[in-house]
Amino acid sequence: MAVSDHVNLEAFMAGVERHNPGETEFHQAVYEVADNVFDYIDDKEIYHEAQILRRIAEPDRVLSFRVCWEDDKGNIRVQRGWRVQNNNAIGPYKGGLRFHPSVTQSILKFLAFEQTFKNSLTGLPMGGAKGGSNFNPKGKSDHEVMRFCQSFMTELYRHVGEDTDVPAGDIGVGAREIGYLFGQYKRLTNRFVGVLTGKGMEFGGSPIRTEATGYGTVYFMESMLNRLSDSVDGKRCLVSGSGNVAQYAAQKILELGGKVITLSDSGGFIHDPHGIDADKLAFVKELKNLRRGRLTEYAAEFGVEHHTGRPWALAADLAFPCATQNEISTAEAKLLVANGIRGVSEGANMPTEQEGIHAFTEARILFAPSKAANAGGVAVSGLEMSQNSARITWKEEELENLLRDIMTGIHDRCVEHGRSPGDDHVNYVKGANIAAFIKVADAMLAYGVV
Ligand code: NDP
Repeated sequence: MAVSDHVNLEAFMAGVERHNPGETEFHQAVYEVADNVFDYIDDKEIYHEAQILRRIAEPDRVLSFRVCWEDDKGNIRVQRGWRVQNNNAIGPYKGGLRFHPSVTQSILKFLAFEQTFKNSLTGLPMGGAKGGSNFNPKGKSDHEVMRFCQSFMTELYRHVGEDTDVPAGDIGVGAREIGYLFGQYKRLTNRFVGVLTGKGMEFGGSPIRTEATGYGTVYFMESMLNRLSDSVDGKRCLVSGSGNVAQYAAQKILELGGKVITLSDSGGFIHDPHGIDADKLAFVKELKNLRRGRLTEYAAEFGVEHHTGRPWALAADLAFPCATQNEISTAEAKLLVANGIRGVSEGANMPTEQEGIHAFTEARILFAPSKAANAGGVAVSGLEMSQNSARITWKEEELENLLRDIMTGIHDRCVEHGRSPGDDHVNYVKGANIAAFIKVADAMLAYGVV
């Protein structure tokens, strides 16, 4: 019989911490899901008996490998690469690759765990994985990045495949890196298959994939506001990051009539009170994607303020954290609430600290957790896989409509599981965790103990 939730959750988390020592990001991600799921399964003995949550929180496998490459000066460099295959109950493993010096096994385990739930929410048949390396592409020449990617794929190719595990991009892995990785996979295997998503349009990529995560994050916010007969139109928006997700979140906010007043990078943020319009955004894309420059150049070009730190102390209506994990501290979350923030939609993965999430949910603002709000990227990746299998390319308009439908579907699933009796307010964290859990858990039950 289920005993008290509190005791169960504490004992469960003590076990997770004991089995994964020092992996704090992983503990945080598991706690965030377990907190809601324990309530839900309290009277559902079948999930307890089958130890479903414990099994999802133990990755199917964690692959770790050495990646040697030669820099332009002829020095031998040694990095570590990983692929964490968390769960394939509902489809082949799927999730991005991150190249950043901060990458650790803990971060990739948290991301792979989150990805399992996110992919479930999309309604598409995809399991959860994540991978990457502590390699820093910043400041490296194209040739150095190419040699690193080729060396990384020379090990990774053994573990991936179009029906096994399909990686994609993430921080530090964009179109250039995916091109080099796919080129090496093709060379090693002599097979042209959809083993990676986020590919260039010339070799099997999908329209809208580049835009999908940022667009989807804003669509989700629009759905939350529409439910309350409101919209993004006319809202002042804080966006953090200035990479792929931030750029297209900003673009969609502009299209929907909102005003973007900040962007950030690892050197700080710019505050443009007049709003970042389409021309200024084009400048940011050229700066970040082609010249790989810093936002201080934006401040100089347009005569606006540049500050170190993060943009969360500014007053605004909506916030879109689109840079990295734990970029909204608990204090910053409380400050956003105190300054009257109406909604937060997480474009980045787990950008809000655990207690910060509590501050948002307690204040009953519109809060969309990353596993729901940024699922648009992996959803279009799923559609890229379907197009590759059928060897066709769908039209951009068709894909944008599909993306919008998928985001609406995720929103509605969160509403279905995120309300308490007699209360119309939606706790999107609870809704996302429970909706995602049910699908993965029921598939696992069907397989028996495997
Ligand atoms: P990019 O590498 O394109 O951009 C990342 C941005 O975040 C850059 O502006 C970077 O600054 C900034 N940044 C990175 N690390 C830090 C840090 N420690 N402190 C401050 N700023 C930082 O990555 P993406 O836009 O693809 O990814 C952003 C987030 O969205 C990540 O959490 C990722 O996991 C998540 N995500 C991405 C998806 C995608 O489709 N790309 C899908 C789902 C989630 P700088 O320019 O200085 O490096």
